Amino acid sequence: MSTFIESEERTALRAAVAALGKRHGRDHDREALWAEAAKLGYLGVNLPEEYGGGGGGMAELSIVLEELGAAGCPLLMMVVSPAICGTVIARFGTEEQRQAWLPGLADGTRTMAFGITEPDAGSNSHRITTTARRTEGGWVLSGRKVFVSGVDIADATLIVGRTEDARTGKLKPCLFIVPRDAPGFGRSQIDMELHAQEKQFELVLDDVELPESALVGEEDAGLLQLFAGLNPERIMTAAFAIGMGRYALARAVDYAKDRQVWKAPIGAHQAIAHPLAQAHIELELARLMMQKASALYDAGDDLGAGEAANMAKYAAGEACVKAVDQSVHTLGGNGLTREYGLASLVTAARVARIAPVSREMILNFVSHQSLGLPKSY
Ligand SMILES: Cc1cc2nc3c(=O)[nH]c(=O)nc-3n(C[C@H](O)[C@H](O)[C@H](O)COP(=O)(O)OP(=O)(O)OC[C@H]3O[C@@H](n4cnc5c(N)ncnc54)[C@H](O)[C@@H]3O)c2cc1C
Repeated sequence: MSTFIESEERTALRAAVAALGKRHGRDHDREALWAEAAKLGYLGVNLPEEYGGGGGGMAELSIVLEELGAAGCPLLMMVVSPAICGTVIARFGTEEQRQAWLPGLADGTRTMAFGITEPDAGSNSHRITTTARRTEGGWVLSGRKVFVSGVDIADATLIVGRTEDARTGKLKPCLFIVPRDAPGFGRSQIDMELHAQEKQFELVLDDVELPESALVGEEDAGLLQLFAGLNPERIMTAAFAIGMGRYALARAVDYAKDRQVWKAPIGAHQAIAHPLAQAHIELELARLMMQKASALYDAGDDLGAGEAANMAKYAAGEACVKAVDQSVHTLGGNGLTREYGLASLVTAARVARIAPVSREMILNFVSHQSLGLPKSY
C-alpha cells in the first residue's frame, strides 16, 4: 500500500496514542506520561523486538510523538533517546552495548541524551573540537557542548567527538556514551525562555575517563554512522512540530466556532478562517513529507532519507510557526493568557525552526545537494 495512506495498524496506533495524550493533556506530569507511554510500548516502538522494542520504524515512532504533541503533551526526549541514541546503538553498537541499553530505552527505564552542538561550532559541525584521546584500555574525552536537552534526567549522554588524530579538517565523528555521573562531566542549566519540562544544559567534559566500551561503532566510520541517528532526529523534530501545530490549530478552531462579537462567530470571517485553513493544509503537507522521509529511512535508504528528512523538518517547522502564530491571533487577548496556554507555544514553535538544524542550513543543504548550486561558505 502507498506509504502515505496509513495502514490499519498505524491508524490504530495513532488513535491509541491520541487517547493516551488526551488523558494526560497540557498539564501532564512528564515522568508519569513517559512511564505510561513506555509501558504501552510506544517509546520503543522503533527498536528491534529482540531487545524489547516494537520492531517498527520511524513511521511508528513519529506517529507517537505527533499524537502526543497534538494532545498538548509532547515528549521532547523521544527525539533523542529512542530515535537518535536507540537507532545508533541498534545499528552500530556492539552486542554488549545493545544488551546494556536497548531494553531500558525501549521500556523507558533508561533515557539517553544526545550532545553534538558546541559553543564555537554551532551549525558548523565540522568545527567541533570535543576530542577523544586513546589511553590504555579506554578514552579520555575533553570539550564543551551547549544546549543539550535533558542531561539531568538522562542516565547517559551520547557525545559526538572526534579522535585526536582527526582534530582538524573534515569531520570524522565518533560517538561516546558518557554516564551522567562520570567524573569530569559537568553540566549547568541554561536559563531558557521556554515553558518546557525538559531543560537545556551547557556541558564541560574535563578529561572524562571512559572505558573502551564507551565508543559506539567504528572510530573511523565517520558521518554515515552519525547520519543514521540524525535523520531520525529530523523526522522526529518534524513530528514534534506537526503535533504542536495541530494542538494550537485545534484550540483556535474551537475558539473561532464559539466566539461571537458581531452577528456570526469569528470563524465565519474569512480573515480568520482562511489563515487557519492554510495552516491546516501546510501541516498536512509537512506530514506527507515526514511520511516519505520515514518510509525511505525505514526502507534503509539513508541517502534518500537525508534529503526528505531535511525537507520534512523544514516544512514542519515553518508550518508549526505559522499555525501557532495564527492560532494565538485567533484568540485575540486570550491568545496571550495563561489560561488558554497558546502564548508559550510562540517560543516553543521556534525551536523547530532552529533545532536540530536551522532553517537556513536546510536551505543551504537543498541549494547545494538537491539543486547543485555553488556554496558561499
Ligand atoms: C530547545 C533547544 C534544544 C536543543 N537540544 C539540543 C540537544 O539535545 N543536543 C544538541 O546537541 N543540541 C541541541 N540544541 C542545539 C541546536 O541544535 C542548535 O541551537 C542549532 O543547531 C543551531 O546552532 P547555534 O544555536 O549554534 O546557531 P548558529 O550556528 O550560531 O546559527 C545562528 C544563525 O545563523 C544562521 N547561519 C549559520 N550558518 C549559516 C550559513 N552558512 N548560512 C546561512 N545562515 C547561517 C543559522 O541558520 C541561525 O539562524 C538545542 C537547541 C534548542 C533551542
